[in-house]
Amino acid sequence: MKQCILPGSTLGVLGSGQLGRMFAIAARRMGYRVHVLSPDTDTPTGQVADLEINADYEDTDAVSAFVKDVDVVTFEFENVPAVAAKLAEKSVPVRPAGGLLHTAQNRLREKLFLRQAGFPIAPFAVADSLDLAKEGLDMIGCPAVMKTAGFGYDGKGQVVIRDPAEAEAAWQTLGGHEVVIESFVDFDREMSVIVARGMDGDMVTYGPIENAHHNHILDVSSLPADISSALHEEALEIARELARKFDLVGVLCVEMFLTRDDQLLVNELAPRPHNSGHLTIDAHVTCQFEQQVRAICGLPLGSARQHCPAAMANLLGDLWQGQTPRWEAVAAMPDVKLHLYGKSEARPGRKMGHLTALSDSVSEVVAMVRAARDELTSGVASR
Ligand code: AMP
Repeated sequence: MKQCILPGSTLGVLGSGQLGRMFAIAARRMGYRVHVLSPDTDTPTGQVADLEINADYEDTDAVSAFVKDVDVVTFEFENVPAVAAKLAEKSVPVRPAGGLLHTAQNRLREKLFLRQAGFPIAPFAVADSLDLAKEGLDMIGCPAVMKTAGFGYDGKGQVVIRDPAEAEAAWQTLGGHEVVIESFVDFDREMSVIVARGMDGDMVTYGPIENAHHNHILDVSSLPADISSALHEEALEIARELARKFDLVGVLCVEMFLTRDDQLLVNELAPRPHNSGHLTIDAHVTCQFEQQVRAICGLPLGSARQHCPAAMANLLGDLWQGQTPRWEAVAAMPDVKLHLYGKSEARPGRKMGHLTALSDSVSEVVAMVRAARDELTSGVASR
Protein backbone atom coordinates (compact mmCIF):
# COMPACT_ATOMS: atom_id res chain seq x y z
CA MET A 1 0.00 0.00 0.00
CA LYS A 2 3.12 2.24 -0.05
CA GLN A 3 2.24 3.89 -3.34
CA CYS A 4 -1.40 4.50 -2.41
CA ILE A 5 -2.86 7.94 -2.54
CA LEU A 6 -5.24 7.78 0.38
CA PRO A 7 -8.50 9.59 1.16
CA GLY A 8 -7.76 13.13 2.30
CA SER A 9 -5.37 13.58 -0.64
CA THR A 10 -6.14 15.87 -3.56
CA LEU A 11 -6.92 14.60 -7.06
CA GLY A 12 -6.39 16.91 -10.04
CA VAL A 13 -8.64 16.72 -13.10
CA LEU A 14 -7.89 18.27 -16.48
CA GLY A 15 -11.21 19.02 -18.19
CA SER A 16 -14.43 20.05 -16.53
CA GLY A 17 -17.43 18.37 -18.18
CA GLN A 18 -19.89 15.79 -16.88
CA LEU A 19 -17.32 12.98 -16.77
CA GLY A 20 -15.19 15.06 -14.41
CA ARG A 21 -18.31 15.89 -12.40
CA MET A 22 -19.22 12.24 -11.82
CA PHE A 23 -15.56 11.44 -11.10
CA ALA A 24 -15.45 14.27 -8.54
CA ILE A 25 -18.67 13.08 -6.89
CA ALA A 26 -17.21 9.56 -6.53
CA ALA A 27 -13.91 10.96 -5.23
CA ARG A 28 -15.50 13.29 -2.70
CA ARG A 29 -17.76 10.51 -1.45
CA MET A 30 -14.57 8.62 -0.61
CA GLY A 31 -13.08 11.60 1.20
CA TYR A 32 -10.74 12.95 -1.46
CA ARG A 33 -10.40 16.58 -2.42
CA VAL A 34 -10.74 17.48 -6.10
CA HIS A 35 -9.15 20.34 -8.03
CA VAL A 36 -10.15 20.93 -11.65
CA LEU A 37 -8.47 22.99 -14.36
CA SER A 38 -10.13 24.05 -17.61
CA PRO A 39 -10.65 27.22 -19.66
CA ASP A 40 -14.26 27.56 -18.41
CA THR A 41 -16.04 28.71 -15.28
CA ASP A 42 -19.06 27.39 -13.38
CA THR A 43 -18.47 24.04 -15.05
CA PRO A 44 -20.16 20.69 -14.39
CA THR A 45 -16.97 19.52 -12.59
CA GLY A 46 -16.14 22.87 -10.99
CA GLN A 47 -19.56 23.03 -9.34
CA VAL A 48 -18.82 19.91 -7.30
CA ALA A 49 -15.03 20.22 -6.92
CA ASP A 50 -13.13 21.78 -4.01
CA LEU A 51 -11.33 24.13 -6.35
CA GLU A 52 -12.08 25.24 -9.92
CA ILE A 53 -9.14 26.80 -11.75
CA ASN A 54 -10.02 28.78 -14.83
CA ALA A 55 -7.00 28.71 -17.18
CA ASP A 56 -5.93 27.59 -20.59
CA TYR A 57 -4.37 24.11 -20.81
CA GLU A 58 -1.37 25.76 -22.48
CA ASP A 59 -0.93 28.28 -19.65
CA THR A 60 2.22 26.74 -18.18
CA ASP A 61 2.20 28.94 -15.03
CA ALA A 62 -1.39 27.99 -14.23
CA VAL A 63 -0.82 24.28 -14.93
CA SER A 64 2.34 24.31 -12.76
CA ALA A 65 0.46 25.96 -9.90
CA PHE A 66 -2.42 23.47 -10.28
CA VAL A 67 -0.05 20.51 -10.20
CA LYS A 68 1.75 21.77 -7.09
CA ASP A 69 -1.35 21.28 -4.96
CA VAL A 70 -2.47 17.84 -6.15
CA ASP A 71 -1.22 14.28 -5.55
CA VAL A 72 -2.16 12.78 -8.92
CA VAL A 73 -3.56 14.10 -12.18
CA THR A 74 -6.14 12.50 -14.43
CA PHE A 75 -8.17 13.82 -17.35
CA GLU A 76 -11.82 13.59 -18.22
CA PHE A 77 -11.61 13.92 -21.99
CA GLU A 78 -8.85 12.82 -24.34
CA ASN A 79 -8.46 16.12 -26.11
CA VAL A 80 -6.53 17.72 -23.25
CA PRO A 81 -3.48 19.16 -24.98
CA ALA A 82 -0.48 16.90 -24.51
CA VAL A 83 1.54 19.88 -23.28
CA ALA A 84 -0.56 20.06 -20.08
CA ALA A 85 -0.20 16.33 -19.38
CA LYS A 86 3.56 16.47 -20.10
CA LEU A 87 4.06 19.41 -17.75
CA ALA A 88 2.04 17.71 -15.03
CA GLU A 89 4.04 14.49 -15.44
CA LYS A 90 7.20 16.31 -14.34
CA SER A 91 5.83 16.73 -10.80
CA VAL A 92 3.11 14.19 -10.13
CA PRO A 93 1.85 10.90 -11.56
CA VAL A 94 -0.52 11.37 -14.52
CA ARG A 95 -2.88 8.42 -14.86
CA PRO A 96 -3.58 6.98 -17.36
CA ALA A 97 -0.07 7.75 -18.67
CA GLY A 98 0.47 10.03 -21.66
CA GLY A 99 1.05 7.27 -24.26
CA LEU A 100 -2.57 6.16 -24.28
CA LEU A 101 -3.77 9.77 -24.34
CA HIS A 102 -1.51 10.46 -27.33
CA THR A 103 -2.82 7.44 -29.26
CA ALA A 104 -6.48 8.07 -28.47
CA GLN A 105 -6.25 11.77 -29.38
CA ASN A 106 -5.93 11.04 -33.05
CA ARG A 107 -8.04 8.62 -35.09
CA LEU A 108 -5.22 7.84 -37.47
CA ARG A 109 -2.71 7.05 -34.72
CA GLU A 110 -5.38 4.95 -33.03
CA LYS A 111 -6.21 2.96 -36.17
CA LEU A 112 -2.55 2.42 -37.04
CA PHE A 113 -1.92 1.17 -33.53
CA LEU A 114 -4.93 -1.16 -33.60
CA ARG A 115 -3.99 -2.58 -37.01
CA GLN A 116 -0.34 -3.02 -36.14
CA ALA A 117 -1.22 -4.73 -32.85
CA GLY A 118 -3.55 -7.12 -34.67
CA PHE A 119 -6.90 -6.00 -33.27
CA PRO A 120 -9.91 -6.49 -35.58
CA ILE A 121 -10.91 -3.21 -37.26
CA ALA A 122 -12.72 -2.09 -40.41
CA PRO A 123 -10.42 -1.67 -43.46
CA PHE A 124 -9.22 1.93 -43.86
CA ALA A 125 -7.06 4.17 -46.02
CA VAL A 126 -5.33 7.44 -45.15
CA ALA A 127 -5.21 10.60 -47.28
CA ASP A 128 -3.85 14.12 -46.96
CA SER A 129 -4.99 15.43 -50.36
CA LEU A 130 -8.15 15.21 -52.43
CA ASP A 131 -6.43 13.00 -55.01
CA LEU A 132 -5.28 10.56 -52.36
CA ALA A 133 -8.74 10.65 -50.79
CA LYS A 134 -10.25 9.61 -54.13
CA GLU A 135 -7.66 6.86 -54.48
CA GLY A 136 -8.35 5.70 -50.94
CA LEU A 137 -12.06 5.62 -51.62
CA ASP A 138 -11.45 3.54 -54.76
CA MET A 139 -9.52 1.08 -52.65
CA ILE A 140 -12.03 0.89 -49.78
CA GLY A 141 -15.16 1.07 -51.95
CA CYS A 142 -18.57 2.60 -51.21
CA PRO A 143 -20.27 3.03 -48.87
CA ALA A 144 -17.47 4.44 -46.73
CA VAL A 145 -17.04 6.90 -43.89
CA MET A 146 -14.52 9.74 -44.21
CA LYS A 147 -13.28 10.92 -40.81
CA THR A 148 -10.85 13.64 -39.82
CA ALA A 149 -7.62 12.09 -38.58
CA GLY A 150 -7.54 14.53 -35.68
CA PHE A 151 -9.98 14.73 -32.85
CA GLY A 152 -13.67 14.01 -33.38
CA TYR A 153 -16.45 12.80 -31.12
CA ASP A 154 -20.18 12.12 -31.25
CA GLY A 155 -20.02 11.79 -35.03
CA LYS A 156 -18.36 15.19 -35.44
CA GLY A 157 -15.73 15.28 -38.17
CA GLN A 158 -17.15 12.44 -40.25
CA VAL A 159 -19.16 12.09 -43.45
CA VAL A 160 -20.75 8.99 -44.96
CA ILE A 161 -19.93 8.56 -48.67
CA ARG A 162 -22.40 6.47 -50.65
CA ASP A 163 -21.09 7.26 -54.15
CA PRO A 164 -17.55 8.04 -55.40
CA ALA A 165 -18.88 11.34 -56.80
CA GLU A 166 -19.38 12.53 -53.18
CA ALA A 167 -15.67 12.32 -52.35
CA GLU A 168 -14.83 15.96 -53.11
CA ALA A 169 -17.80 17.36 -51.16
CA ALA A 170 -16.87 15.16 -48.17
CA TRP A 171 -13.23 16.27 -48.36
CA GLN A 172 -14.34 19.94 -48.39
CA THR A 173 -16.83 19.43 -45.54
CA LEU A 174 -14.06 18.05 -43.36
CA GLY A 175 -11.90 21.08 -44.08
CA GLY A 176 -9.30 19.55 -46.40
CA HIS A 177 -7.26 18.08 -43.53
CA GLU A 178 -5.75 14.62 -43.25
CA VAL A 179 -8.52 12.01 -43.23
CA VAL A 180 -9.14 8.35 -42.62
CA ILE A 181 -11.44 6.63 -45.13
CA GLU A 182 -13.05 3.67 -43.52
CA SER A 183 -15.29 0.96 -44.87
CA PHE A 184 -18.91 1.53 -43.78
CA VAL A 185 -19.78 -1.27 -41.37
CA ASP A 186 -23.26 -2.70 -41.85
CA PHE A 187 -23.40 -3.63 -38.18
CA ASP A 188 -25.94 -5.71 -36.35
CA ARG A 189 -25.35 -3.67 -33.22
CA GLU A 190 -22.89 -1.39 -31.45
CA MET A 191 -21.41 -2.28 -28.11
CA SER A 192 -18.82 -1.06 -25.67
CA VAL A 193 -16.70 -2.65 -22.99
CA ILE A 194 -15.32 -0.61 -20.13
CA VAL A 195 -12.23 -1.96 -18.45
CA ALA A 196 -10.63 -0.63 -15.28
CA ARG A 197 -7.07 -1.62 -14.47
CA GLY A 198 -5.26 -0.96 -11.23
CA MET A 199 -1.59 -0.34 -10.55
CA ASP A 200 -1.11 -4.00 -9.71
CA GLY A 201 -2.47 -5.06 -13.15
CA ASP A 202 -5.79 -6.30 -11.74
CA MET A 203 -8.73 -5.69 -14.06
CA VAL A 204 -12.50 -5.53 -13.91
CA THR A 205 -14.81 -5.15 -16.89
CA TYR A 206 -18.32 -3.86 -17.55
CA GLY A 207 -20.23 -5.08 -20.54
CA PRO A 208 -20.51 -5.59 -23.35
CA ILE A 209 -22.96 -2.71 -23.08
CA GLU A 210 -25.35 -2.40 -26.01
CA ASN A 211 -25.48 1.09 -27.50
CA ALA A 212 -28.07 2.70 -29.77
CA HIS A 213 -27.11 5.98 -31.45
CA HIS A 214 -29.26 8.75 -32.86
CA ASN A 215 -27.68 11.30 -35.22
CA HIS A 216 -24.28 9.74 -34.37
CA ILE A 217 -24.78 10.61 -30.69
CA LEU A 218 -25.23 7.90 -28.07
CA ASP A 219 -28.94 7.69 -27.29
CA VAL A 220 -29.65 4.58 -25.18
CA SER A 221 -27.28 2.08 -23.54
CA SER A 222 -28.37 -1.18 -21.93
CA LEU A 223 -26.72 -3.97 -20.00
CA PRO A 224 -26.60 -6.93 -20.36
CA ALA A 225 -26.35 -7.08 -24.15
CA ASP A 226 -28.31 -9.81 -25.90
CA ILE A 227 -25.38 -11.79 -27.38
CA SER A 228 -23.89 -15.26 -27.07
CA SER A 229 -21.56 -16.04 -24.19
CA ALA A 230 -18.71 -16.68 -26.67
CA LEU A 231 -19.05 -13.19 -28.17
CA HIS A 232 -19.41 -11.75 -24.69
CA GLU A 233 -16.11 -13.25 -23.61
CA GLU A 234 -14.40 -12.30 -26.89
CA ALA A 235 -15.43 -8.65 -26.45
CA LEU A 236 -14.19 -8.56 -22.86
CA GLU A 237 -10.88 -10.12 -23.85
CA ILE A 238 -10.32 -7.49 -26.57
CA ALA A 239 -10.74 -4.78 -23.93
CA ARG A 240 -8.51 -6.55 -21.41
CA GLU A 241 -5.83 -7.08 -24.05
CA LEU A 242 -5.89 -3.38 -24.95
CA ALA A 243 -5.63 -2.42 -21.29
CA ARG A 244 -2.59 -4.69 -20.92
CA LYS A 245 -0.97 -3.38 -24.11
CA PHE A 246 -1.22 0.20 -22.85
CA ASP A 247 -0.26 -0.78 -19.30
CA LEU A 248 -3.42 1.10 -18.37
CA VAL A 249 -3.84 2.58 -14.92
CA GLY A 250 -7.36 3.95 -14.98
CA VAL A 251 -10.43 3.32 -17.09
CA LEU A 252 -10.64 2.61 -20.82
CA CYS A 253 -13.73 2.28 -22.98
CA VAL A 254 -13.53 0.22 -26.16
CA GLU A 255 -16.34 0.89 -28.65
CA MET A 256 -17.06 -1.99 -31.01
CA PHE A 257 -19.27 -2.98 -33.91
CA LEU A 258 -20.80 -6.42 -34.09
CA THR A 259 -21.21 -7.27 -37.76
CA ARG A 260 -24.10 -9.31 -39.12
CA ASP A 261 -21.78 -12.32 -39.38
CA ASP A 262 -20.75 -12.07 -35.72
CA GLN A 263 -17.38 -10.35 -36.17
CA LEU A 264 -16.34 -7.87 -33.51
CA LEU A 265 -14.56 -4.78 -34.88
CA VAL A 266 -12.98 -2.14 -32.66
CA ASN A 267 -14.25 1.32 -33.62
CA GLU A 268 -12.81 3.69 -31.07
CA LEU A 269 -10.93 3.95 -27.76
CA ALA A 270 -11.68 6.39 -24.96
CA PRO A 271 -9.06 6.35 -22.17
CA ARG A 272 -11.55 7.44 -19.49
CA PRO A 273 -15.03 6.63 -18.19
CA HIS A 274 -17.58 6.66 -21.00
CA ASN A 275 -21.16 7.76 -21.59
CA SER A 276 -22.21 4.13 -22.08
CA GLY A 277 -20.97 3.35 -18.56
CA HIS A 278 -23.09 5.91 -16.75
CA LEU A 279 -25.57 3.19 -15.86
CA THR A 280 -22.90 1.64 -13.61
CA ILE A 281 -23.56 4.43 -11.08
CA ASP A 282 -26.98 3.00 -10.24
CA ALA A 283 -26.65 -0.62 -11.36
CA HIS A 284 -23.27 -1.78 -9.98
CA VAL A 285 -21.54 -2.27 -6.67
CA THR A 286 -18.73 0.01 -7.91
CA CYS A 287 -19.30 2.46 -10.76
CA GLN A 288 -16.83 3.33 -13.51
CA PHE A 289 -16.00 6.67 -11.83
CA GLU A 290 -15.14 5.10 -8.49
CA GLN A 291 -12.92 2.63 -10.38
CA GLN A 292 -11.11 5.60 -11.94
CA VAL A 293 -10.55 7.05 -8.46
CA ARG A 294 -9.37 3.71 -7.07
CA ALA A 295 -7.09 2.95 -10.03
CA ILE A 296 -5.32 6.31 -10.16
CA CYS A 297 -4.87 6.27 -6.38
CA GLY A 298 -3.32 2.80 -6.40
CA LEU A 299 -6.18 1.29 -4.38
CA PRO A 300 -7.59 -2.16 -5.13
CA LEU A 301 -10.48 -2.05 -7.61
CA GLY A 302 -14.03 -2.51 -6.37
CA SER A 303 -16.49 -5.18 -7.43
CA ALA A 304 -18.11 -4.65 -10.84
CA ARG A 305 -21.05 -6.89 -9.90
CA GLN A 306 -24.33 -5.72 -11.39
CA HIS A 307 -27.40 -5.58 -9.15
CA CYS A 308 -29.98 -5.84 -11.96
CA PRO A 309 -30.52 -5.08 -15.67
CA ALA A 310 -30.22 -1.38 -16.44
CA ALA A 311 -30.67 1.07 -19.30
CA MET A 312 -29.56 4.66 -19.70
CA ALA A 313 -31.02 7.36 -21.95
CA ASN A 314 -29.19 10.58 -22.65
CA LEU A 315 -30.99 13.90 -22.12
CA LEU A 316 -29.90 16.31 -24.84
CA GLY A 317 -30.49 20.04 -24.89
CA ASP A 318 -33.22 19.50 -27.49
CA LEU A 319 -35.58 18.52 -24.63
CA TRP A 320 -35.34 22.03 -23.24
CA GLN A 321 -36.25 23.95 -26.38
CA GLY A 322 -38.99 26.39 -25.35
CA GLN A 323 -39.92 24.41 -22.25
CA THR A 324 -38.82 23.11 -18.90
CA PRO A 325 -38.77 19.30 -18.85
CA ARG A 326 -41.28 17.78 -16.44
CA TRP A 327 -38.83 16.62 -13.77
CA GLU A 328 -41.72 15.77 -11.45
CA ALA A 329 -42.87 13.12 -13.95
CA VAL A 330 -39.63 11.13 -13.72
CA ALA A 331 -39.32 11.79 -10.00
CA ALA A 332 -42.63 9.91 -9.69
CA MET A 333 -41.06 6.79 -11.28
CA PRO A 334 -39.44 4.88 -8.41
CA ASP A 335 -37.11 2.77 -10.59
CA VAL A 336 -35.81 5.63 -12.71
CA LYS A 337 -32.89 7.78 -11.59
CA LEU A 338 -32.30 11.34 -12.78
CA HIS A 339 -28.80 12.73 -13.34
CA LEU A 340 -28.28 16.34 -14.43
CA TYR A 341 -24.90 17.89 -15.12
CA GLY A 342 -25.47 21.50 -14.00
CA LYS A 343 -25.13 23.03 -17.47
CA SER A 344 -27.00 26.30 -17.74
CA GLU A 345 -27.24 26.54 -21.51
CA ALA A 346 -29.33 23.80 -23.15
CA ARG A 347 -28.19 23.76 -26.77
CA PRO A 348 -29.58 21.15 -29.20
CA GLY A 349 -27.32 18.08 -29.21
CA ARG A 350 -25.63 19.06 -25.93
CA LYS A 351 -25.52 16.34 -23.28
CA MET A 352 -27.36 17.85 -20.29
CA GLY A 353 -27.99 14.73 -18.21
CA HIS A 354 -29.24 11.16 -18.35
CA LEU A 355 -31.84 8.81 -16.91
CA THR A 356 -31.18 5.27 -15.71
CA ALA A 357 -33.95 2.68 -15.39
CA LEU A 358 -33.56 -0.47 -13.29
CA SER A 359 -35.69 -3.60 -13.35
CA ASP A 360 -35.72 -7.36 -13.93
CA SER A 361 -35.25 -7.65 -17.69
CA VAL A 362 -33.29 -5.72 -20.25
CA SER A 363 -36.24 -5.29 -22.64
CA GLU A 364 -38.25 -3.84 -19.78
CA VAL A 365 -35.57 -1.33 -18.72
CA VAL A 366 -35.04 -0.12 -22.28
CA ALA A 367 -38.78 0.49 -22.67
CA MET A 368 -38.91 2.13 -19.22
CA VAL A 369 -36.08 4.55 -19.85
CA ARG A 370 -37.44 5.59 -23.25
CA ALA A 371 -40.93 6.09 -21.81
CA ALA A 372 -39.49 8.09 -18.90
CA ARG A 373 -37.67 10.39 -21.28
CA ASP A 374 -40.84 10.87 -23.36
CA GLU A 375 -42.67 11.82 -20.18
CA LEU A 376 -40.31 14.77 -19.70
CA THR A 377 -41.87 16.56 -22.64
CA SER A 378 -45.32 14.99 -22.86
CA GLY A 379 -47.98 17.67 -22.68
CA VAL A 380 -45.53 20.46 -21.77
CA ALA A 381 -46.58 22.63 -24.71
CA SER A 382 -50.04 22.96 -23.23
CA ARG A 383 -48.87 23.70 -19.70
P1 AMP B 1 -17.12 7.63 -33.99
O1 AMP B 1 -17.02 9.11 -33.76
O2 AMP B 1 -16.07 7.08 -34.89
O3 AMP B 1 -17.26 6.86 -32.71
O4 AMP B 1 -18.52 7.39 -34.73
C1 AMP B 1 -19.75 7.75 -34.16
C2 AMP B 1 -20.82 6.81 -34.68
O5 AMP B 1 -20.88 6.88 -36.13
C3 AMP B 1 -20.57 5.35 -34.38
O6 AMP B 1 -20.96 5.01 -33.07
C4 AMP B 1 -21.40 4.68 -35.46
O7 AMP B 1 -22.77 4.71 -35.12
C5 AMP B 1 -21.16 5.58 -36.66
N1 AMP B 1 -19.99 5.07 -37.43
C6 AMP B 1 -18.70 5.44 -37.29
N2 AMP B 1 -17.88 4.75 -38.10
C7 AMP B 1 -18.67 3.92 -38.82
C8 AMP B 1 -18.42 2.93 -39.83
N3 AMP B 1 -17.19 2.69 -40.31
N4 AMP B 1 -19.49 2.26 -40.32
C9 AMP B 1 -20.75 2.49 -39.86
N5 AMP B 1 -21.04 3.41 -38.92
C10 AMP B 1 -20.03 4.12 -38.38
